[in-house]
Amino acid sequence: MNLRTLLIHGGRDRDPYTGASSIPIYQTSTFAQADPEHPGRYDYARSGNPTREALEESIAALEGGACGLAFGSGMAATSSVLLLFRPGDHLVVGEAVYGGTYRILQGLFHQWQLEVTFVDTQDPEAVRRAIRPTTRALFVETPANPLLQITDLRAMAALAAEHGLLSIVDNTFMSPYLQRPIKLGFDIVVHSATKFLGGHSDLIAGLVVARDETLGRRLKSIQNAFGGILGPMDAWLTLRGIKTLGVRLEAQQASAQKIAQWLREQPKVNHVYYPGFPDHPGRAIHFGQASGAGAIVSFELPDGPAAMAFLKRVRLPLVAVSLGGVESILSHPATMSHAALPPAARRARAISDGLVRLSVGLEDADDLMADISNALG
Ligand SMILES: *Cc1c(COP(=O)(O)O)cnc(C)c1O
Repeated sequence: MNLRTLLIHGGRDRDPYTGASSIPIYQTSTFAQADPEHPGRYDYARSGNPTREALEESIAALEGGACGLAFGSGMAATSSVLLLFRPGDHLVVGEAVYGGTYRILQGLFHQWQLEVTFVDTQDPEAVRRAIRPTTRALFVETPANPLLQITDLRAMAALAAEHGLLSIVDNTFMSPYLQRPIKLGFDIVVHSATKFLGGHSDLIAGLVVARDETLGRRLKSIQNAFGGILGPMDAWLTLRGIKTLGVRLEAQQASAQKIAQWLREQPKVNHVYYPGFPDHPGRAIHFGQASGAGAIVSFELPDGPAAMAFLKRVRLPLVAVSLGGVESILSHPATMSHAALPPAARRARAISDGLVRLSVGLEDADDLMADISNALG
């Protein structure tokens, strides 16, 4: 089946018990056992819930993995994956991974003696050099936030295979509609389904997909034991969001391309970052592993005060943390997602005070450009 069909029919496309076209919200904690000697398919809802399972089957089908798992947030998903490792294990992690991922690795998991080297994964040789005898996994994100740097997923999967490492990728920015890392050799895909998969800025959710059954069983037992599961209502909302992922992303991406090109011509905009530009660094790699440039555009205003003035004047996009919703969302990395980084570290990563990130929504692109133009002053 093609992806557009999988979005509608992948996994459980109707309720197996009633035929309902929308999987019911099984709002329950437990399941009565008709025969206590032979437990039924479901026993306790932390271990399995039909609404959550429908979502888990859907994301497994979309990513082309053996097993999908749904968690209460993207961070619960990532944290549960990190529980695969033990004290003394070493991980090589992209230096531009999501801030929350950076934070748990530096804080919580550091306390548990998980060792991490952060590297620029745009450079496979830097990744190779960081691998030690105790290295167990490689964790990357592409395109990375907020400058949309590209990591070569095939090269990363090959390095991981060569050194016997688990390969893990955060696929939130692309979603399986545009990029399917398991097909490129990755072992584990994590998502913040809060973003494009949910797509309506109305829930927090995380998903994990494992390439094979064995890894799937290990992650499933962590999910059940650690308990960071997604509730049935939010599983249902995510399932509903997934059905329109394709049409939403196509439209948002088309607007993003148009807006990015237009931003490039604005005298008050110093630089625009968008993988859809012919001269975006890593563009050839990106289009060798993804089918589109996505709906996130970052651009640089002259300085912090100019960015603040712009964010205060803009009317249509929400000024907020998050991305991937039907409404456009503008964020200011220096004071939001990357505020925890010291200014020198931000400068070293080219995250200036004038940088803003736009997640392009489903509004009319001309209306968005008019609003942005007005706010640029
Ligand atoms: C938002 C986000 C996360 C964290 O997900 P939550 O659902 O907020 O816990 C992880 N990775 C990326 C790339 C994100 O954008």
